[in-house]
Amino acid sequence: MDTDVLVVGAGPTGMMLANELRVAGVPPVLVDKLPQRSTLSKAGGVQSRTQEAFDQRGLLEPLLATGNYPAGTAHFAGITLPLTRDRHRHPWRSVPQVVIEGFLERHLAAQGIPVRRSYELTGLAQDEDGVTATFASGDVIRSRYLVAADGGRSTVRSLLGAAFPGRAGTITTVAADVRLSGDDPAMTHARSEDGHWASVFPLGTDPRGRPLRRLALGGPGRSVPREVPVTEDEIRDGLRAVFGSRVQLLELCYARRITNAARQAARYRHGRVFLAGDAAHVHLPIGAQGMNTGLQDALNLGWKLGAAVRGWAPEHLLDTYHTERHPVAAAVLRNVQAQSLLMDHQGTGDPDLTAAKDLFAALARLRDVQYHLDDVLSGMGIRYPMPAAEDLPLVGLPAPDLDLGPVRSHELLRPGRGVLIDPLDRFAKVATLWQDRVDRAGQGTGTEPMLIRPDGYVCWAGNPDDLEPALGHWFGEPHRRTELDRS
Ligand SMILES: Cc1cc2nc3c(=O)[nH]c(=O)nc-3n(C[C@H](O)[C@H](O)[C@H](O)COP(=O)(O)OP(=O)(O)OC[C@H]3O[C@@H](n4cnc5c(N)ncnc54)[C@H](O)[C@@H]3O)c2cc1C
Repeated sequence: MDTDVLVVGAGPTGMMLANELRVAGVPPVLVDKLPQRSTLSKAGGVQSRTQEAFDQRGLLEPLLATGNYPAGTAHFAGITLPLTRDRHRHPWRSVPQVVIEGFLERHLAAQGIPVRRSYELTGLAQDEDGVTATFASGDVIRSRYLVAADGGRSTVRSLLGAAFPGRAGTITTVAADVRLSGDDPAMTHARSEDGHWASVFPLGTDPRGRPLRRLALGGPGRSVPREVPVTEDEIRDGLRAVFGSRVQLLELCYARRITNAARQAARYRHGRVFLAGDAAHVHLPIGAQGMNTGLQDALNLGWKLGAAVRGWAPEHLLDTYHTERHPVAAAVLRNVQAQSLLMDHQGTGDPDLTAAKDLFAALARLRDVQYHLDDVLSGMGIRYPMPAAEDLPLVGLPAPDLDLGPVRSHELLRPGRGVLIDPLDRFAKVATLWQDRVDRAGQGTGTEPMLIRPDGYVCWAGNPDDLEPALGHWFGEPHRRTELDRS
């Protein structure tokens, strides 16, 4: 084997995964076909759960220190959710994808995992022991596992012949990075009476420190074939249709057409090959959910692959990547579909749709509705199917950030190991059996006992009798068992 894990594609998903594998003690080889990192801004925001994922590895502070990234308010179908603003430790924040990619690439290089560039995967074969990847350059890399993080048009997915069911795009809208003048709105969703609409979000600043905005435009007659270039006149016209003369285009930095295609791989695991990020799911970019879902795919898969390589993964562990993550992206596809419909992206002006949207907007003023929508969007409401998850309040959910005296519980996740919170100091003996994979903490604190996986999800809480089975279920056979039994 040339490497234990080959990660194909150094977008946000591939780089996050490479870091998770590094933390798990299994540094991978990470390749990308591009000779240089893309400079396109792409997705514009990080959700609460993604920020927690960075924080768990000590990366959030250094990421946010690279610039000025304002906290914002999430929206569903253009309806802002102000009551959710202070709900989580980390509010929704505008951090452009290009910043995240640059940050992760520098971090990985500093940790001895440079992105190997100009490596375009063109061939793939797998057998019982591993995967052989061939590249346009003629290079061959043999690995025990391969992860396809090679984006929505994934070569790996095609080579596998993996089913990617869903819907082809039926409309296009314009997405552009711009500087605006006049009453430049930092964040808005506006619509004219005749069905033209515009969404504006903050997108950091240009190299001279001037505010950039992500602008999305659409409406009647604006669904133009994808390959037709977007012009400045088209953007000016779209702005005029919605804002009149209040907002004007100062500079068009980059524009493209996006479609509402929605597809998801039927299976995320194909033997020794795994699909992650856009390679596994594509949809209309609303609320940066594509990038965030990919980053969280990586968080889920990293420690499991690490465990498989290091030899302690229980038989079923790698399969839980599909069972846990497939429903998450399926739900994202559904919420994006609903948002696109409610936003009337086609600008039909259908009065039935307007009536439904008005009713929805009224409902969305209710706190519980805002909380529900926030659960859907922030990643904080994701609950993985786990044994006993239905009966116990915490199991399957992201772990709360516990105050454990000198440390907070999220800091204990930095080494990428499991954490057993044992406030009553009851589990020292059983914890010894897994001490090479799980740390014990929180003795003498007034917290709830719980077992936290390396990705930050609670996998046991409550009944002490269930702890040992839970440790075995998530962390494999205790290799010191025989030794202890003998003593
Ligand atoms: C132009 C653009 C604009 C976008 N705008 C938004 C937005 O406004 N909001 C939003 O939410 N989302 C947006 N998205 C979607 C969001 O960027 C994606 O969800 C996110 O990039 C997914 O990350 P990923 O790492 O899974 O895939 P990608 O970011 O697509 O990364 C895949 C990587 O794989 C590499 N690769 C591909 N094929 C091969 C191969 N054969 N061999 C080796 N390497 C390969 C590529 O070079 C690329 O670096 C946009 C995407 C694009 C492309």
